[in-house]
Amino acid sequence: MKLHEYRSKQLFSQHGIPIPRGRVAMTAQEAKVVAQELGGRVVVKAQVLVGGRGKAGGIRLVDSPEEAEEMATRVLGMHVRGLPVNRVLIDEAADVQSEIYLSVTNDRGRRCPVIIASAEGGVDIEEVAKTMPEKIVRVHVDPLLGMRQYQARQLAASIGLSREYWQEFGNIVRGLYDTYVNTDATLAEINPLVISGDQRLLALDGKMIIDDNALYRRPELAEMRDLDEEEPAEREARRFSLSYVKLDGSIGCMVNGAGLAMATMDVIKLYGGEPANFLDIGGGAGADKVAAAFNLILKDEGVRAVLINIFGGITRCDEVARGILTAMQEVEGNPPMVVRLVGTNEEEGRHLLRNADMVVATSLGDAAQKAIQLSAEGLPA
Ligand code: GDP
Ligand code: MN
Repeated sequence: MKLHEYRSKQLFSQHGIPIPRGRVAMTAQEAKVVAQELGGRVVVKAQVLVGGRGKAGGIRLVDSPEEAEEMATRVLGMHVRGLPVNRVLIDEAADVQSEIYLSVTNDRGRRCPVIIASAEGGVDIEEVAKTMPEKIVRVHVDPLLGMRQYQARQLAASIGLSREYWQEFGNIVRGLYDTYVNTDATLAEINPLVISGDQRLLALDGKMIIDDNALYRRPELAEMRDLDEEEPAEREARRFSLSYVKLDGSIGCMVNGAGLAMATMDVIKLYGGEPANFLDIGGGAGADKVAAAFNLILKDEGVRAVLINIFGGITRCDEVARGILTAMQEVEGNPPMVVRLVGTNEEEGRHLLRNADMVVATSLGDAAQKAIQLSAEGLPA
């Protein structure tokens, strides 16, 4: 779950990281009042869950409360990269001398947290990684020992930070690491961390991603989820407890079990196809859930064929078949479908689907090849 900039910065602030004075506003009038409180020279920032808002026109420095109101009026009506702006953050404008990048994230390969820093802050870090990889430095943290102060000094030295800032930088790295640990985050990022005209370090931007699997024990964070800002399909998937990730291919997949879902995607790719999604309907899915899953797949305009791969253990094949039939009645223009049903009540399941114009496959390899062929033809067999 991604957090808005203003929420991320509040969490940073609670961990001792200096942030600009500021407040979030829901209306242009409110934005004007906040700008007045802050003395007029403020930056108006669209709160949307994507990066690169600056380039997209979602961030603007203004000189007066009136201008802040005007800018807020414009921003509150707009979409940034497809997402609606419902809030603006009004921050006291900072005098930016230089911009640093700083983040803590998981290094899955090394199985531990990694702190990443760069003197090339303010810009897209992926871009820096591509064009100037030597400008990015990393230190890994032993999760049992925790972050050590020498590691922050090591980072400071490696990015060429002037010594007078090392102490303060160390406190910020410590604060960011603590934020990351205390919120079960998978990412805590400050970009840019700036050196201001009055020689202070200040977190101007904040981004956090909280591990969804930890939200059960972070109810105060779970409440921060902004439903308006999520891909509608993924929101719908969560409502039915489906694991769904949209991808760019043409073969929609409906599978039970994450491992089987990944294997299905691999086999599709092995035969030269591209999956349109990852979808795990989970164990014991009833007809309702199957219908919801099926609807998700069919709403994806990229889908040219559907591969249903069910191993019936706890999930019963006849339940799955019923769900598919229900969903097919609701959606128009069904693409061709290939189904592989194996396990509990498989005969009954196949029997139900026999009249539904589906291609029944004998193995996963067979199913993948048939789905690929049908997706290319765009016609039912
Ligand atoms: P992003 O584009 O979504 O990453 O949004 P940021 O909050 O990082 O803002 C983009 C850029 O706007 C920053 O890198 C800064 O260069 C600039 N910026 C943001 N706030 C201020 C400010 O208070 N003063 C100045 N001078 N520049 C700012
Ligand atoms: Mn930024």
